[in-house]
Amino acid sequence: MFAESLLKWFERHGRDLPWRKVKDPYIIWLSEIILQQTRVAQGTPYFHRFYEEFPTISLFAKADLSEILRMWQGLGYYSRARNMHYAAQQVMEKYAGVFPTEYKELLKLKGIGEYTAAAISSFARNEPRAVLDGNVYRVLSRYLGIYTPINSSAGKREFTEIANKMLDKKHPGDYNQAIMDFGALQCKPRNPDCETCVLKLNCAAYQNSRVEDLPVKLKKKASKNRYLHYFIIQKAQKTLMSRRGTNDVWAKLYEFPHIETKGDLSLPELLETADFQAWFSNPTIVQIGPCIKHILSHQNIYAKFYRIENPEALKIEKSTWNYFMSDNLDKLAKHKLIFSFLESNSL
Ligand code: SF4
Repeated sequence: MFAESLLKWFERHGRDLPWRKVKDPYIIWLSEIILQQTRVAQGTPYFHRFYEEFPTISLFAKADLSEILRMWQGLGYYSRARNMHYAAQQVMEKYAGVFPTEYKELLKLKGIGEYTAAAISSFARNEPRAVLDGNVYRVLSRYLGIYTPINSSAGKREFTEIANKMLDKKHPGDYNQAIMDFGALQCKPRNPDCETCVLKLNCAAYQNSRVEDLPVKLKKKASKNRYLHYFIIQKAQKTLMSRRGTNDVWAKLYEFPHIETKGDLSLPELLETADFQAWFSNPTIVQIGPCIKHILSHQNIYAKFYRIENPEALKIEKSTWNYFMSDNLDKLAKHKLIFSFLESNSL
């Protein structure tokens, strides 16, 4: 009854997305990874760009990682792009270039977890594996009235079992797409459209007026605040850029050289720090724009940008620093904060 109603709803209301109705696991993989934690409207142009540039897994595997990271700019979570590049090479080496479609084989590829493996195997070969993303958790917890927190390990176990029980084993691919679209369009996180819902007569949350209380989530740990001061230093039409290491966020991506401080310092306070004094001698410094807050999964980044008008004031050099032509910075793979800054400020 549940599955039948969902499939009927999907026939009438399902989204007509460019990667739908395809069985090619490469296309499904590309779209699924791009769309993880990205809205469809934002992710779709990325999908088209990637697919046009790399229409096959072998072209994706052969591409330079820096090119993939550059094309990924704006999507965030760069580890996903790195994992994709690695997984493409695994497909070439271990599967002779044929993208696997079996759930168990898919899990062996870097960056493919249970959700993506279930999506690819069910869409590409109708393997009966239930997908479990935020939409599915929400629909199931409301429809069945389950109060176990969805971000707890007990919740994950319980919902995985239930999702697989509810799965339409004859049409797992369509069913999975149907329940995800249903969560995205009808049983939305806020203001779900219960009045027109085909499931409302049997929906526990609706019948008990508990829709707003579900799904239950445990509160996350407080995020750490970090304060970064970026310096734009230019000479001879070149801009000094720094490439990050691998021990912190934004591994291997480019940004302007920066000093991190423990608190939110004003410019006069920054000038007094030991780091700043070790870096610069008599700089002419101008702040560009206000402080920008950038939220990562466990960190709030507060970034300020400054222009150093006299580049000779810089006293030090670092092995991770290099000057690049200022009009060529779009060729570098930068993290989202720098990418957004450059989009709204001309250097
Ligand atoms: S009745 Fe409301 S809460 Fe229940 S499944 Fe439908 S949209 Fe979701």
